[in-house]
Amino acid sequence: MSRATTPVWLALVLAAGQAAAQAPASAAWFGVMLPPPLTFHELEALADRPAAPAVVPAGETQWTELAGAGLQRDLTTIVGFSHESRRTREIGEGMLWGRVTGFPSSARTIDWATEEFRRAGIQDVELQSFQQTANAGMTLPVSWEVRILGDPSFGPGTRDVVLESAMPLSDTELPNGLTAPLVYVGTATPAELARVDLRGKVAVQKAIPQAHTVFIRTPVGPRAQDLIERGALAVLTVIDLPGNMRVNDMGCGDGICFNVGGRDGLFLERVLDAATEQGRADAVRVQLRVDNERYSGLSAANGVAVIPGTTRPNEYVVLNAHADAWFDGAGDNGDGLAVLVALARHFARPDMRQDRSIVFVASAGHHSTGLSGPGNFISMNHDIIDGAVLVVNLEHTAQRNITPARTSYEDGYRHWTMDSYEAPIVAGVSNRAPFVEDLVIRGTQRYGTNFVAGPNTTASGEGGSYSRTGVPVFTTIQGPPMYHTTGEVLEMVSTPGMERMARFMAWFVKEVSKAPASAIDPQ
Ligand SMILES: [Zn+2]
Repeated sequence: MSRATTPVWLALVLAAGQAAAQAPASAAWFGVMLPPPLTFHELEALADRPAAPAVVPAGETQWTELAGAGLQRDLTTIVGFSHESRRTREIGEGMLWGRVTGFPSSARTIDWATEEFRRAGIQDVELQSFQQTANAGMTLPVSWEVRILGDPSFGPGTRDVVLESAMPLSDTELPNGLTAPLVYVGTATPAELARVDLRGKVAVQKAIPQAHTVFIRTPVGPRAQDLIERGALAVLTVIDLPGNMRVNDMGCGDGICFNVGGRDGLFLERVLDAATEQGRADAVRVQLRVDNERYSGLSAANGVAVIPGTTRPNEYVVLNAHADAWFDGAGDNGDGLAVLVALARHFARPDMRQDRSIVFVASAGHHSTGLSGPGNFISMNHDIIDGAVLVVNLEHTAQRNITPARTSYEDGYRHWTMDSYEAPIVAGVSNRAPFVEDLVIRGTQRYGTNFVAGPNTTASGEGGSYSRTGVPVFTTIQGPPMYHTTGEVLEMVSTPGMERMARFMAWFVKEVSKAPASAIDPQ
């Protein structure tokens, strides 16, 4: 490619790369640019253009309770409970936050949803409290540090660099720290690892998510375990996603592992390359520290509302959305909870009463050990489960899709850009009932929901607990790129996307409510 035809963005990337490679030894850290400080609650993707608008079919314009503006207002409230969790340092030093079941942030979220059910005019509303399972404890990291140790031989002025995006992922404590050389393994396979001496070192592996972050739990988690079995003292996993984020996902069993954000990871990779080019592959060392706390004896609650059916009140359609979250949790599951509350307002309208009873569950969630929202709902509401014809799980329903951009940050790390539409949404029908499958197809045509095209029986997230009761489960769930990361902020969620899902689901529930039970569950 001739210089004259090199696009500006590519020229910038090439220049950044050359600057790192050709830097004089007189600069700190081999001349590699330091990662920027971490920012929270802010978007790390290009999104100047608005999301694609929701489709409002004829006859639905008067249902303003399903419009984007109200959903956005509620989502902002829900994410606000997470911001408060960080502000008040609810967990340890405040490096991990969220709407954490067993803690005030989750209780406030459930209280808010329950109050909204009441304000919608629903008579039968209950806050159903429960205790953490006896002997169950939840271990959370309360303080930690990943420090790359400076050395004057890397260039004058080379000072320690703390990777702020680091996130510990195991219960193992390192109160006195661990210091060891780093070794880079990237995405190495066993054939490649056979040539690498990992013993006594901290391995750095790379994870490159493809669309759904959940898809890389394998191989990333098992490979981290394999690295430890091959002698690594610990594993740092560089997650190649927009900007610099803490990622609370993908563990390594009992080993010590941390995730590191993409821009911190780029710094680490360039420094290790530069050291290796100088014949000093083992010279770069890291100091790791993590303190955990075990929480037990916690309590939590589900918020439950029932709108009685007109002709078949003992048959139920159950709508569930979990309220818990790691970090801001706008998409997991702030959007699902906002859609649930909007649907409660819709079906509370006197002209929207259905044949069957509709149940709304603001679930305590599933992140906190011994405090299962769906598990406790099932055990505390046998009458509803016995009469349920379908459970609908609203989980991660409107996060926008992101893709790599053509431009980069000044350090050479790639920008990401928003799509107009939502990230793919799995629409799982646990029993593959043709009637329900047909509703998914017709609903996509009617509302433009971005459901994946392959029929499937997915009942993941909260759907798993419900499907074990034998009741058919319909799950709408994304596994979007920013899932379980600090990057999953308010702006990652599409306002029209929430409206798309709310309107689709209102239509879907009405179709289900009037259908014969034999169509919903052909067995
Ligand atoms: Zn979730």
